[in-house]
Amino acid sequence: MTLSIPFANSYGSLPSQLFSRLNPTSVSAPKLIVFNDSLAESLGISGFDDTAALAQVFAGNEVPKGADPLAQLYAGHQFGQWNPQLGDGRALLLGEVQTGHQRFDIQLKGSGPTPYSRNGDGRAWLGPVLREYLVSEAMHALGIPTTRALAAVTTGDPVYREGALPGAVITRVASSHIRVGTFQVLAARQDHDGLQALFEYAVDRHYPTAQTPLDFLNAVIDAQARLVAKWMSVGFIHGVMNTDNCAISGETIDYGPCAFMDAFHPMQVFSSIDRRGRYAYGNQPDIIVWNMAQLATALVPLMPDVDAAVASFTEAVHAMPKLVHGYWRDAFAAKLGIGTPREDDVVLIQDLLSLMARENADFTNTFSNLPAGIDPENLSQSEDFATWKTAWKARIADEDSPEQRMQSVNPMIIPRNHQIEALVQSAVAGEFAPFHQMHQALATPFSVSDQHHYLTKPPLEEERVKATFCG
Ligand code: AMP
Ligand code: MG
Ligand code: MG
Repeated sequence: MTLSIPFANSYGSLPSQLFSRLNPTSVSAPKLIVFNDSLAESLGISGFDDTAALAQVFAGNEVPKGADPLAQLYAGHQFGQWNPQLGDGRALLLGEVQTGHQRFDIQLKGSGPTPYSRNGDGRAWLGPVLREYLVSEAMHALGIPTTRALAAVTTGDPVYREGALPGAVITRVASSHIRVGTFQVLAARQDHDGLQALFEYAVDRHYPTAQTPLDFLNAVIDAQARLVAKWMSVGFIHGVMNTDNCAISGETIDYGPCAFMDAFHPMQVFSSIDRRGRYAYGNQPDIIVWNMAQLATALVPLMPDVDAAVASFTEAVHAMPKLVHGYWRDAFAAKLGIGTPREDDVVLIQDLLSLMARENADFTNTFSNLPAGIDPENLSQSEDFATWKTAWKARIADEDSPEQRMQSVNPMIIPRNHQIEALVQSAVAGEFAPFHQMHQALATPFSVSDQHHYLTKPPLEEERVKATFCG
């Protein structure tokens, strides 16, 4: 059986300034690393048993039947600085498939230069490809909205970063790749017709019940507030929350220098390019509000009355911090076994987080130890922790099965930095078993088999990763 992807494309019908049509650039010797059979099936893809054929398609050497390959235009604020033109510099939308009402983009990343590449080579190396594959699939298993990974291949060609590295291509699946920056680019160009067309398209694709730009703004605000609260609840740091990396859908997108924290610190930063810590863990709830203010600004030209638009959009953005706080509180309350969160639970949550920060307690293991009745490492000797525990036990005394609730939201296995780095090194040396092993373990993050027990260990001091890179 030959590979068949039931494309039902729509983005190419938008005004043509929003994209550039082009084919991926061929590579020398594509080899399949991994293919996501279950995701493929859920998208209606068939005939994926021939791995050589999959490697050809998902390296970009063969354009599958029905595809409409194009690079998308966008702009964005990068670290707060306006950049009037970005766009898919190394990515290419192959096309969309539809299941029920929902459309999904199938996009190659690392497939060669595009008109938006600027000085970039349009390529990706193996490290970031494996990292995105693992972390995005881990996020999905954790129940956090995210793009998915469909395939990863090596290209057989070198990519030059700090020396020659093996090139690779990842195929990702998203409910769309429309970003805050997609709206921004049209608003900045005063392209009113383009903006109106994008707005109608985005409403139909993501928030069909929205009637007005304000409804749409509120829907995106809600989706992003939920998303960032979920990131916080698993110790995830996105690392590059630029407005071009902020999806209208509310999915996590663009896994660059992202990381999960080991020892808890509220201002943890990993990204090597985030010198001032703009995108530190604890800043994420504020940054997402800033990003939504940029979306609001870009939507203003859609409204007939500018003053009224500004007033209602400002109110929506100003209401967001409280929204994020509510989702954050509920998520952390659940991590403590509380199913009926109250505002005064915030004290209990903050007290524990403060203790964890003071004692360098591991974020993931502290929470996964609680339902097991184990005193977390670094906290077991602390009198303050003993006091906290008494207050916590009293609080959950009347809760219905708090242990079960905690077990269902506190993961035991997350993709830890030092483990990703180790498996990338193995892969560069041609050994992919550690990648596959980690991938398998991350599929069931709330339980751990004996075989995977080593993955719950926080890094030793000498293994600790201090910085992550974009790739
Ligand atoms: P990011 O913030 O990593 O999502 O990337 C910012 C912009 O740079 C996007 O428009 C990317 O498409 C582009 N970009 C990143 N890496 C490359 C590359 N190697 N070649 C061309 N464009 C790139
Ligand atoms: Mg990006
Ligand atoms: Mg990127």
